[in-house]
Amino acid sequence: LLYNKVLELKGNIRVFCRCRPLSQAEAASNAASVTEFEGASNGDIVVRNGAAGKKLFKFDRVFSPQDDQTDVFADTAPVVVSVLDGYNVCIFAYGQTGTGKTFTMEGSVANRGVNYRTLEELFNVAAQRKGEIKYDISVSVMEVYNEQIRDLLAPPAAQDQPSKKLEIKQAAEGGHHVPGLVEAQVSSMEEVWDVLQAGSSSRTVGSTRANDHSSRSHCMLCVMVKGENVITGEFTKSKLWLVDLAGSERVAKSDAQGDRLKEAQNINKSLSALGDVIQALTMKSSHIPFRNSKLTHLLQDSLGGDSKTLMFVQISPNEADVSETLCSLNFASRVR
Ligand code: ADP
Ligand code: MG
Repeated sequence: LLYNKVLELKGNIRVFCRCRPLSQAEAASNAASVTEFEGASNGDIVVRNGAAGKKLFKFDRVFSPQDDQTDVFADTAPVVVSVLDGYNVCIFAYGQTGTGKTFTMEGSVANRGVNYRTLEELFNVAAQRKGEIKYDISVSVMEVYNEQIRDLLAPPAAQDQPSKKLEIKQAAEGGHHVPGLVEAQVSSMEEVWDVLQAGSSSRTVGSTRANDHSSRSHCMLCVMVKGENVITGEFTKSKLWLVDLAGSERVAKSDAQGDRLKEAQNINKSLSALGDVIQALTMKSSHIPFRNSKLTHLLQDSLGGDSKTLMFVQISPNEADVSETLCSLNFASRVR
């Protein structure tokens, strides 16, 4: 409750920075860490950039390599719960490939991430309120790759059919939706788990979707919540997006040709569109350029207005990654 007050006072966009630990391989090769967390409790992080010296960045929260999934979710939970109060919410993980975006959002069975914990929290809070409000929760899982939406819950044979091409439409009452997208109703964590598994296996199936495909597409989970007040009969309808963005690293010009070049351009386009939209919202511009990418167009209802946005900027502590780290932190500072 207190947290929600802070959110209202300070605007609806939060930025949390999370730094992964050095990997075993990095530690074994004596890789140096360039990140400092002395001021982490105040939202400060310092990056040492060789001869250029130290640079300080300020965020709403900073999670060091010692912070675990539970620590991260403790600060995320109030934001996700607001979807049950009728707010639209958008949470996304931004950063270079290998910095922990998927770890934060998806996690693993031993280290559940934000996606799983969010649904668990929604069910828990919904159960506490069941005498007053009846909730109906459903989930869609999609991927945006080269500016095309793929439904990861559709039958595999249907996913790449040109006739099933998915487009974003504006509904009469103003909200955006994707006609034809599968919406799986979920009422237990077993059902959620099945849906999440189905979604992630769809991502990795097929020859064009091998290994690092997932780092070059945006993986998007949309949780739709309908609430009916059993006493007054009042309805609320809201949406929560959980997004594992494509890697933000710049691709060397020499590496980018053909398909790889097209991919890189599309990633660039959508991530800069996201930055532009958030910046325009922060500056209260009269025109918000949602239509510049599929990503921002999909998220339109959950960015701006009275919706709540939480961005995780994920970074590596490794000295070898320092230039990408500075790019990500600059991007995140720009949207704050
Ligand atoms: P990304 O999705 O950004 O490419 P991943 O989530 O795949 O990155 O993370 C890269 C590797 O680092 C994975 O092996 C992951 O388990 C590990 N990792 C990332 N963040 C953490 C963390 N906070 N604690 C422990 N391991 C982490
Ligand atoms: Mg990933």
